[in-house]
Amino acid sequence: MAFGIQNKVAIVTGGSSGIGLETVKLLLSQGAKVAWCGRNVQRLEQSYEMVCEQYPAEQCLIWPCDVLDKKQVQEFIEQVIERFGAIDMLINNAGQGLVSDFKNTTDEQWVDEVKLKYFSVLHIIKAALPHLLQSQVCSITNINSLLALKPERHMIATSAARAGLLNLTKSLSKEFSAQGVRVNSVLIGMVESGQWRRRYENRSDRELSWEQWTAKIASEREIPLGRLGYPQEVANALVFLASPLAAYTTGSAIEVTGGFSQEI
Ligand code: NDP
Repeated sequence: MAFGIQNKVAIVTGGSSGIGLETVKLLLSQGAKVAWCGRNVQRLEQSYEMVCEQYPAEQCLIWPCDVLDKKQVQEFIEQVIERFGAIDMLINNAGQGLVSDFKNTTDEQWVDEVKLKYFSVLHIIKAALPHLLQSQVCSITNINSLLALKPERHMIATSAARAGLLNLTKSLSKEFSAQGVRVNSVLIGMVESGQWRRRYENRSDRELSWEQWTAKIASEREIPLGRLGYPQEVANALVFLASPLAAYTTGSAIEVTGGFSQEI
């Protein structure tokens, strides 16, 4: 089924890797124009080269930007408008999690987690909103984690901050609905991507292959579908919610967890 986003303009934060990169590719495959950002210029340029092998460069814009830096975010939005003249869909994906329990989490780490989860969406929503309001599609989609509903002790600060982001997303959906802006979340479980690759590289059980290591996690965590998710599976949910296919959906949260949420 077509998503109905041909020639529409999408922004994907953290589009240079993992879920964000798959989201960029799916949007482009549907004929959208896509602007994406990341902090690491080399990784961003690599993602652009990879994507431009398959899709026309005219559909693509990359811009180095830390979503926590208000000035950089404003410049990114200005670039998108200069290049594409509109913003229809904002997909807030940039971020990472902190593996740390109560005992080991410093005050600075608490502040950093809350700052990341809140301001990674707030700065860019503020900057993009005047343009989104001109659009018929007009959607904001925030990536979030099942941790928002099902906290884990080894990710205490991330879990608490994610719960706040879920609440914030719902509040924004209420405040913006009168203006026709839809705001939704995707709650994800464990998804194979850069974050997990980095944890794999630092693993203690060095004898396990990537496949064995991820299968062991899925088994230990009793994920009903028996595996970690793929970034493409999250991208499908993000693009669905961002697109006119979800025109009557706002304030919702789709779970992409392999059934991990069943026991909540
Ligand atoms: P990756 O590490 O593969 O990708 C993260 C992307 O975000 C990169 O492009 C990174 O680029 C970018 N990024 C990170 N911080 C910033 C920042 N401050 N400003 C701009 N860009 C930034 O991770 P995933 O694809 O796994 O993660 C995507 C999202 O999903 C993240 O928000 C993550 O927290 C969330 N998530 C992932 C889970 C999983 O199991 N994979 C589980 C729960 C949530 P660069 O570093 O160059 O800035």
